[in-house]
Amino acid sequence: MTEINRGASAKIIDGKSFAAGLRARIGAEAAKLKAEHGLVAGLAVVLVGEDPASQVYVRNKSKAIAEAGMQAFDRPLPAQTSEADLLALVGELNADPNVHGILVQLPLPEHISAHVVIDAIDPVKDVDGFHFINTGKLWAAGGTLVPCTPQGCMMLLRDVLGDLKGKEALVIGRSNIVGKPMAALLLAENCTVTMAHSRTNDLPAVARRADILIAATGRPEMVRGDWIKPGATVIDVGINRIPALSDHHPRKMRLVGDVAFEEAVKVAGAITPVPGSVGPMTIACLLRNTLIAACRQIGLGHPAV
Ligand code: NDP
Repeated sequence: MTEINRGASAKIIDGKSFAAGLRARIGAEAAKLKAEHGLVAGLAVVLVGEDPASQVYVRNKSKAIAEAGMQAFDRPLPAQTSEADLLALVGELNADPNVHGILVQLPLPEHISAHVVIDAIDPVKDVDGFHFINTGKLWAAGGTLVPCTPQGCMMLLRDVLGDLKGKEALVIGRSNIVGKPMAALLLAENCTVTMAHSRTNDLPAVARRADILIAATGRPEMVRGDWIKPGATVIDVGINRIPALSDHHPRKMRLVGDVAFEEAVKVAGAITPVPGSVGPMTIACLLRNTLIAACRQIGLGHPAV
């Protein structure tokens, strides 16, 4: 059950419950892999520097991996690590048979090129799905390791809408991490896809055509209620920290998405809340990719997740 009906307003897409179910299925498949093939799927998590938000993300990912009965290899590195040293570590992890997935937490310090590092990861271990080979396969052929956040959004969309064929889908944001792979996945589902970005003319008018609206801009509450087609399905990828405006705690912050939720919930047919929907799906899909990568590396087919 992934939707909670709120009377006259939109259905709330409960990604948290969906992700919990997915994680349970991944845990069961990981246990089967261990019992039948003696293999514990392993994920190396590389963090360069001490960015507090990245530290939280990395901790959550490693914890989730352990909870699914897989192994996390945490590799924290100081902020001043050179690109050459990071590439040497990636090479070491590529060669390590206990490591089936490699995640290099982004953003990297400015003196290190993310493109160069991502390109050095063995594509079969690229559980983020950011390597050029995996990006190309996603657009051209499918059947690859798909970036976790768009994969999680797709699972929620399929659960809510079933067949997406012929639907007008709008993706706001064109990053390599979210917007572009999201568009590729929607296209593969036979949606008519529009990609919008900061130079799009009259974005509210473009948005009003969308049966499916994906917001991934990093602009707090940018998508207003009157941009949304009545009954549309809205997936809010954004995670933004803004002041909570509390008299008692003047420095308190709260999390909001890229969609003005209280307005949008009155117009949309279904909507993801922030936090607690796309975020949990991202982590679940990372576990899924780690399991898929491990299975492929020993010549097994796709696990049942
Ligand atoms: P990026 O900053 O890489 O990309 C943002 C995109 O939004 C760009 O393509 C940019 O356009 C576009 N954009 C910015 N302002 C506007 C505007 N006013 N109108 C239209 N388009 C605009 O961000 P990411 O894709 O990495 O992340 C997007 C959001 O998703 C962030 O809030 C991030 O925190 C969140 N996120 C959440 C995840 C989760 O698990 N829930 C995972 C990953 C990200 P242009 O290209 O023209 O500059």
